[in-house]
Amino acid sequence: MALSEQARKLRNEYQRTWRHKNPERIKQININYWEKRANKTTVTDNVTDKNKVTDNSNTAICDVCGTPFIARRKDSKYCSSACKQKHYRLKN
Ligand SMILES: [Zn+2]
Repeated sequence: MALSEQARKLRNEYQRTWRHKNPERIKQININYWEKRANKTTVTDNVTDKNKVTDNSNTAICDVCGTPFIARRKDSKYCSSACKQKHYRLKN
């Protein structure tokens, strides 16, 4: 794994020369790298969001305040226990 002192020197020298000769290429590599990363991040975020929705079965609208929320059970009608209580209080 570790390079010998001589090999490291050679590599550093090579890289220095290469970088000196190809400044535009380095710029392009940098751009490509970050563009790729930016794209990856977006894709991952989308996938995560999709998974979030699928994992938690379905979204529903709260009967009391109208806020969209993730229904943990199919018969969930309220975004929170506070709204559930509010509903029962209104009913009675
Ligand atoms: Zn609510």
